Amino acid sequence: MAQHDHHHCLDLIDLLNDYLDGELSAESCAELEEHLRQCPECEALLSSLRQTVNILHHFDDLPPPLPPTLEERLIGHMQRHMQTRPH
Ligand SMILES: [Zn+2]
Repeated sequence: MAQHDHHHCLDLIDLLNDYLDGELSAESCAELEEHLRQCPECEALLSSLRQTVNILHHFDDLPPPLPPTLEERLIGHMQRHMQTRPH
């Protein structure tokens, strides 16, 4: 099972958010961590997400650096994730 497709990777972004929030079930955690071992792209994504979460948490003392496109998209994704109210 060495193949990884981007659809699967994109699905994992949701899992990564929950993973960082500590809200992921043990089963999904194991699945995610296994994927991270095979997929440097997602591993990079996770560390970038981690940094983003840190920045958001320390928003008051630390002005965020200009995010690269990937981080901008991740932040947008996270914001949509957090803002559940209808438009
Ligand atoms: Zn991946």
